[in-house]
Amino acid sequence: MASFYELTAYELHSMLQNGDITAEELIYSLFDRIQKTETKIKAYITLLKENAINQARLLDKKLRNSNFFGILAGIPIAIKDNICTKNIRTTCSSKMLDNYVPPYNATVIERILAEGGIIIGKTNMDEFAMGTTTESSYYQITHNPWSLEHVPGGSSGGSAAAVAADETILALGSDTGGSIRCPASFCNMTGIKVSYGSISRYGLISYACSLEQIGPLTKDVRDCALLLNVLVGRDPYDSTTLNRPKIDFLATLDEDIKGLRIGIPKEFMGTGTAEAVSKAVWNAVHLLESFGVTYDEISIPLIDYAVPCYYIIAMSEASSNLARYDGIRYGYRVEKDEGEWNEIFAEDRLAFGPEVRRRIMLGTYALSAGYYDMYYLKALKVRTLLRNQFEAQFKSYDIILGPTMPTTPFKIGEMISDPLAMYRTDIDTVAANVTGLPAISIPCGFSDGLPIGLQLIGNSLQEELLLRVAYKFQQETDYHKKKPPIGG
Ligand code: GLN
Repeated sequence: MASFYELTAYELHSMLQNGDITAEELIYSLFDRIQKTETKIKAYITLLKENAINQARLLDKKLRNSNFFGILAGIPIAIKDNICTKNIRTTCSSKMLDNYVPPYNATVIERILAEGGIIIGKTNMDEFAMGTTTESSYYQITHNPWSLEHVPGGSSGGSAAAVAADETILALGSDTGGSIRCPASFCNMTGIKVSYGSISRYGLISYACSLEQIGPLTKDVRDCALLLNVLVGRDPYDSTTLNRPKIDFLATLDEDIKGLRIGIPKEFMGTGTAEAVSKAVWNAVHLLESFGVTYDEISIPLIDYAVPCYYIIAMSEASSNLARYDGIRYGYRVEKDEGEWNEIFAEDRLAFGPEVRRRIMLGTYALSAGYYDMYYLKALKVRTLLRNQFEAQFKSYDIILGPTMPTTPFKIGEMISDPLAMYRTDIDTVAANVTGLPAISIPCGFSDGLPIGLQLIGNSLQEELLLRVAYKFQQETDYHKKKPPIGG
């Protein structure tokens, strides 16, 4: 029989409910596992063992003595370190926030706790979520459980690696330009970015607010649906959240997908896409075809401009969002009491790593008088046109499909010295952020032992449909069930 830590949240939920296992036993099983594998993976910045055991004990008591049985009762969850957790250090993987301890919880954390979820740690990420490899963390490099010489993807690399290595049951990431889907793809996990406004961003340390959403990284689609049941909903603290009716994402997973139409933009399969990746994606398409789905190759020409459009908008918003870290209002402060304030300010801001500084400078440039129209405003126009092109396709197709990433995971060190080459690898993921559309990544194959991800993009608010197609795919395949060869 599988160890407890290998199971899904959905499976554990009923075991906890039936009393086959206690929350405390589950926490101990996980921390034993973490002790064996974490020195190789380095997924966590902070581990909360004592806290988690105490919470589990309280919860076990509550489960015995009341009718409480929350959706996540007793389920361990790891949280990306850019999501605020009350009294728990939240660093954004930056020296700038090295000793930041938030006095409040993000709304998603409140929702998880209300359902009985147990937070076991904070995960490593690219500094301020800027990156595709998790190498820009101030603290450590996270290793891909499928091959320790490879990156786990980013920026939510710690969260994805933790789930993949069975060092947590569930994890939260955030996705501004692919940061949930890319590590899901690289670590053979399932991850979804929901339609913009579906999940509260209150307490998410902002990188680019008009693009990002918090979301689940899980072992399979069913766990993704389970966690979305907790996360999705209006939040008075985040005015950009939508008033969506309460949805049970688990309820519709089983519905038939026959007759659905899929569009495959040729721009998603263009130069730069590894042969093994396009092969795996086409195999997935043919499998879907055998379930009664039809497909056409289509073109969404502006996808070719999605990367520059995304980076101009993301960097511009970052330059504004990160202005507050000046050592006075927020962030690292050099120990110096005299001198010009602007010199001290400049020294404080050296606490940002090179990638964050690069983006603040480029973003400031794109927003400055004389360049604003040429860059920022133009990017906003492209954004609208791209959205129009997607919407036009959704008149004929239910789902747009392609790879999540054009390649399998990079080697550690391979990309970090060439930022432009790294930005280009976001070609398949950023369109969903620029347009606000929902997109899911699921495992669809391997090449040389490294995972490949399939991406499905839906029309606005069509998460249920994405989950349903992805669920059917996982019922008929076992890629998502494979375990990485890290031993224990
Ligand atoms: N790779 C993208 C970037 O560097 C994704 C970031 C994200 O989604 N947080 O900006």
